[in-house]
Amino acid sequence: METVKAKKYLGQHFLKDEHIAERIALSLSGSQRHLLEIGPGMGVLTKYLVTQPDLDFRCVEIDSESVAFLHERYPMLQVIEGDFLKMDLTTLFHDTFALIGNFPYNISSQILFRVFDHRNLIPEVVGMFQKEVAERIAAHPGSKTYGILSVLLSAFYNIEYLFTVDEHVFNPPPKVKSAVIRLTRNDVKRLECDEQLFVQTVKTGFNQRRKTLRNALKPMGRDLSSIPAELLAKRAEQLSVADFILITNQLKET
Ligand code: SAH
Repeated sequence: METVKAKKYLGQHFLKDEHIAERIALSLSGSQRHLLEIGPGMGVLTKYLVTQPDLDFRCVEIDSESVAFLHERYPMLQVIEGDFLKMDLTTLFHDTFALIGNFPYNISSQILFRVFDHRNLIPEVVGMFQKEVAERIAAHPGSKTYGILSVLLSAFYNIEYLFTVDEHVFNPPPKVKSAVIRLTRNDVKRLECDEQLFVQTVKTGFNQRRKTLRNALKPMGRDLSSIPAELLAKRAEQLSVADFILITNQLKET
């Protein structure tokens, strides 16, 4: 069987190490009956997912050459040829589902923003990212890598950094190390504030992350006078989810 030559513009780095593929598959909790894999490529990880009994499993792959390869190797596999970022996730299983993948690194943030937007549909994510992205997602307040996605995702998910993966287990090897993380939906149904304004506050706060919030939040054009001065004197990277909720509730229209 022909193999697929990796295409850089699609973020294709095929995993060579079966042991790591199996470890990623085993990191799923098994709580979900439906599972979507993003970017199966040549199916290294897929191999450990298709065999799981009682699992309604589908993949989405943008590269037609990989799709043809997968059809031939796994005739029973449900492969959707398309772009994960554009597909309708609500009608996919008509139910909640877990998400897994050795994700295309060029769209990692976009994948994670989609997860955030569909948080009530996606209770679990097990995924491989660039190590730096994985660290950012799993970062805590006070850390230099703590950012927008760390706050937004940790508001609704428990985030675990599972293990680091060396660049040499990929073909072609990426420039950086990778890491596998797991997101598990917490029981927060709704934040106790205007959620849209919360997202806007977090994004604006980090937009100029070296400034204090008093200055960083200015572009929002709101009255900040009800916000405790000690919070306004901090930078976004020092604030917890609870701090951002408090700030969101104290932003006043001018
Ligand atoms: N899971 C495989 C391949 C990982 S590389 C392995 O571990 O070996 C990332 C894969 O994502 C590639 O197969 C690439 O074609 C696919 N991909 C890239 N962008 C995509 C998108 N927007 N939607 C779906 N798949 C995508």
